[in-house]
Amino acid sequence: MIVTKKGLVLRVRLGGEKGKYIDILTDNKGIIEVFVRCSKKINGKHIAATQLFAYSNFCLMEKEKRYYLESAEPIHIFYNLRNSISKLALASYFLDLIHYTVPKDNLQQNEILRLILNTLYYLTEDTRDEAFLKSVFELRLMSELGMMPDVIMCPVCYEHTPKELVFSVNRGKFYCKNCYESIENDFSFFMPVGGLMAIRHIILTDISRMFQFKISNKIQNILSAFTEEFVHYNLDYFPRTLIYYKSIIKKN
Ligand SMILES: [Zn+2]
Repeated sequence: MIVTKKGLVLRVRLGGEKGKYIDILTDNKGIIEVFVRCSKKINGKHIAATQLFAYSNFCLMEKEKRYYLESAEPIHIFYNLRNSISKLALASYFLDLIHYTVPKDNLQQNEILRLILNTLYYLTEDTRDEAFLKSVFELRLMSELGMMPDVIMCPVCYEHTPKELVFSVNRGKFYCKNCYESIENDFSFFMPVGGLMAIRHIILTDISRMFQFKISNKIQNILSAFTEEFVHYNLDYFPRTLIYYKSIIKKN
C-alpha cells in the first residue's frame, strides 16, 4: 500500500550497502522508521529531503508494518542550523527529546510536529535567544506529552498570582512564598510572578502565538534552570546532546 506523509527527519542510520534508515516524526503516526534504498535513480532533491532536520513530503510503500521510501520532496530544510555549532547542538538536543518521548507508529503527534517546526524556524531566523527557545520547547513538549505542571493557584491559600512564589518541580505546582514549606528533593525554584506568567504562557497559548512574549534576563535565568530540571526530573533522562550543548555555551 502506498501512503503519503509529511514529517521531520529525526535520525539517520546506515542500513548496510543497500541504503539507510531514517526516523521521521510524522503529522499523524508518531515516529516511523523508513528504509531508503540506494539507487541510481536518486537525485539531489531526494537526498536533501531525507537528510537530518529535513521537513518533507514522503511517499512510502507500507508492507507488513514496515515503510520503504518511494519518493520524497523537501518542504523546508533548516540549512542555517549548520552555520552555528551551538544552534546545531541545541536542535540535536530537541530531536533527542522527541525521539526519547514520542511513541512509535501509533499516536497522532501533530502538535509536537508543529512545536518542533516552529522552534527550529525561530532558531534559524535568529529572532529569539537560544535560552528562550530551549525553555519554551522543553516546557511545551512536556505539556504536550501530558506532563503539565499545575499553574492555577497556590494550593494552600488559593492565591492565583502571588508576587513571589516557589515552583516545586517534584510536586509539579507552585506555592506562594508564605505558604511554601520545603521538603526533601523538592527541586524548588524561587521566582517573581513574571516567571509564573511565562510558564503559564508557554503551557496555555496556541503554538502559533506561543513565541510572542519577552522576559528579562533575570527571569530567563530562573526559567532556564526550571524547565531543564522539569524535563530531567520527569523523564529521568539527561541526553549527551544536552551535555554537549552546555559545554559549548559555557565556552562562549
Ligand atoms: Zn499561598
